[in-house]
Amino acid sequence: MSVSLTINGTEIKAEVGMTVLEAARANDIHIPTLCYAPGLRAVGACRLCVVEIEKMRGYPSACTVPVSDGMVVHTETEEVQNLRRETLSLILAEHPYTCLVCKDYCGIFHGGTIRKAAVTTGCQYCPANGQCELQDLIDYLHVEDIPYPITYRGLPVETHDPFFDRDYNLCILCGRCIRACQEVRHNGVLAFINRGSQTIVGTAFGRSHLDTECQFCGYCVDVCPTGALYDKRGKWEGKPDAVIPSVCPYCSVGCAVDVQVKNGHMIRALGHQDGPSNDGQLCVRGRFGMVDIVHNLGRLKTPLMRREDRLVEVSWEEALAVVAEKLGQYQAGQFGLIASATATNEENYALQKFARVVMQSNNVALAAGLPDFDGDGALATDILRTIDGPAIGQVRQAACILAIGTNLSESHPILSLEIRHALSQGASLITIDTRETGLAKRSKVWLQPKVGTDQALLAGIIKVLADQDGRSGNGTGPAELSAVDLDRVTALTGVDQAKIEAAAECLAGQAPAVIIYGSGVTHHPSAQKVINAIRRLAALAGNTGVIGVPGEGNFVGGHDVGLHPALLPGYQPVAEAEGRAIFEQTWGVTLNAEPGRSYEGLVDGIRQGEIKALYLAGEIPPMAELEKLEFLVLQDIVTTDNIQYADIVLPATTFAEMDGTLTNLEGRIQRLRQAIPPIGFSQPGWLVVADLAHRMGSQAFNYQSAAEVLAEIAELVPAYAGVTLDSLDVAGQLCRFPAVEPDTTPLSLDGIPEIASTEFPLTLITERNLLYYHGADLTDQVSGMNLIKQEEILQLSSADAARLGIVDGDLVKVVSPYGSTECIVEITNGSMPAGTVFASFNRVNNSSLFPGLTPSAKAYAIRIEPNGEV
Ligand code: SF4
Repeated sequence: MSVSLTINGTEIKAEVGMTVLEAARANDIHIPTLCYAPGLRAVGACRLCVVEIEKMRGYPSACTVPVSDGMVVHTETEEVQNLRRETLSLILAEHPYTCLVCKDYCGIFHGGTIRKAAVTTGCQYCPANGQCELQDLIDYLHVEDIPYPITYRGLPVETHDPFFDRDYNLCILCGRCIRACQEVRHNGVLAFINRGSQTIVGTAFGRSHLDTECQFCGYCVDVCPTGALYDKRGKWEGKPDAVIPSVCPYCSVGCAVDVQVKNGHMIRALGHQDGPSNDGQLCVRGRFGMVDIVHNLGRLKTPLMRREDRLVEVSWEEALAVVAEKLGQYQAGQFGLIASATATNEENYALQKFARVVMQSNNVALAAGLPDFDGDGALATDILRTIDGPAIGQVRQAACILAIGTNLSESHPILSLEIRHALSQGASLITIDTRETGLAKRSKVWLQPKVGTDQALLAGIIKVLADQDGRSGNGTGPAELSAVDLDRVTALTGVDQAKIEAAAECLAGQAPAVIIYGSGVTHHPSAQKVINAIRRLAALAGNTGVIGVPGEGNFVGGHDVGLHPALLPGYQPVAEAEGRAIFEQTWGVTLNAEPGRSYEGLVDGIRQGEIKALYLAGEIPPMAELEKLEFLVLQDIVTTDNIQYADIVLPATTFAEMDGTLTNLEGRIQRLRQAIPPIGFSQPGWLVVADLAHRMGSQAFNYQSAAEVLAEIAELVPAYAGVTLDSLDVAGQLCRFPAVEPDTTPLSLDGIPEIASTEFPLTLITERNLLYYHGADLTDQVSGMNLIKQEEILQLSSADAARLGIVDGDLVKVVSPYGSTECIVEITNGSMPAGTVFASFNRVNNSSLFPGLTPSAKAYAIRIEPNGEV
């Protein structure tokens, strides 16, 4: 319903519930503000938005007064403007205001603040100069002098936190950062501390942000209207020349970002306000890590070739000529290609096509792809081909959320934020995880099954739910459920029946619900059974969506465009002639019908000497096996440990230097836009591969742009039909394939795989770390992350620690069937069952514990040898 009101003599319409400020802004009427920020609760504290409203006493704050029919508002009367000037003067009296008193003379005096105040308080020494909202207000209100003495707080600038500095001398106590932390990020790290004139913003007990729950999302920095909070990196870059909308490639949420650019350099990344899956928010990886990665000293800038055991700079011409000549010497089965899930659809499409068309090899794999347990791509097809869950932004509307096998707070923080939104509105959270994760701590019900028993636990919940009110539809019929004995479920999983019933009760009574599963489900041998059980549970609960959460940024897109040994683009089985036909026709070749090697198979092939030449595009953990290759082409953005084995190194562009698309976990195709020129002589991966294919005699790579590669994808992959770069705005395009028939395999408590053994009696589980990109090489480029990451820690239950005679802080040797590594032990109490140990995914990935084995696997058999017994 709308009302009519008059602002400054103009009649406007506004929706009931809007404030005067919102109504004015919707009609391009300016009312100044300071403490107000869109998305935050209006508090009317700064008094800059005061207005006159006829028949209303005093000068109310426009940000807090709701519109009403017939209201008459005046926003710029002399009284109102004088009141604002007075308010601003009082604020400036506690803020270094040389930005005001000498702003007209700075040019004359060579841009340095040399008068009236110490240089440490001058505008040239404020990182927000030119972007500070106080400066805008000073101009708007024509404030030229302040009738009060300046009070300089004399607080030390706090520089010890890893990603941003805090100078509370510049703080105007608007409280935006506090509300951002509390209301938007649901964290509550910041508050007003002290009293009266001593009031400042800070953490409880003045602790460092490192010692709080701070996630370093940077939203407090984003909303600060002055230079009080500022990124360390790019602090003095000032205003950007351009802001280019793009996408964060570092997890499959696919947050929309605004890439700020100055003088051809990326200076900052902020959340894009209209981001469909992130609503303006980012996590620490997207907010503070990107610039360090794009502009770091380890960037590969020119092709390198090994000569006399040294890598020397060469031209692209020379490098590609050698690659073409060398690869031409290998047969299909001798060649392999490993690509990255952070690469674009266009890059990965061109890479797999190169392997299949030019090298006649299906040995193509994503470095962090889905395990291919049966060698036929069934799991990838089942999970990724049809994504029909709710959008990320709908999770906040759920009344009940069940998270299984996923620690979203660390792996996909913006999806975790959606859960926090839902919880703040009263939703219930059920977590199924062997370890007490961040989500488990916030849960109404935490079910802690033994590793690998999720299928039995879900069968138990289904049984209780069905028994509660006689529901038994969707293939979960009475006959099937009669085989599910709850006592046996408890014996298998270690979860009390009461907790199983509590979870079922939550799901039964609260709709809509969402079930979110992650790599803790998809990377176990029982993945398919667990996913089937999840779908049964959702169908039985009713009004329940299911979201699968893969890891890396373009995980879904990589699979969509054929980065899979058994699947052509669009999930067409390479072994089926019908599936191959359209590709053979378009690409003009007869394709190899033999499915290729998975990632593990490729590594094994290298170890056995069967894979002799490898094209490695992107980051994989350091692998000594690469030394066995006869020829290794390494295409990457930074120098990695694996460069020591490379014969040719090809420098690739980052997401900021090229156009293209990424597909997120919702199946949303999103557009990357080139924001800066390529660093050095780096080139987009699709261009490198097209050039190489030409040199090797193929006519099927006639691309001049990423748009042309996408056009070919759109022609061949039905879900991408009609998609062009120009058709993709910030919202992207949700595109999936037709639904497949649901699996009807009966629920079963049997076939639970054993992981531990007599020789290796402990089960090591892993999870991603918030402060880590997929591998160490990118993380190492981000100085803030290097400061605080803790990947050397191994968590051990107190029972296992007592049995092994280990105390907190001990250095132990962790031994697997393949190798060993050393870790420092942290003993946990109740957060993990006995028999289970935990290390970060990255710690395991970058060790010799499991060289070249499934890098994303989630459970491994190990033993621990206390130091001294080694
Ligand atoms: Fe990037 Fe994922 Fe973080 Fe979003 S949640 S900023 S996509 S890493």
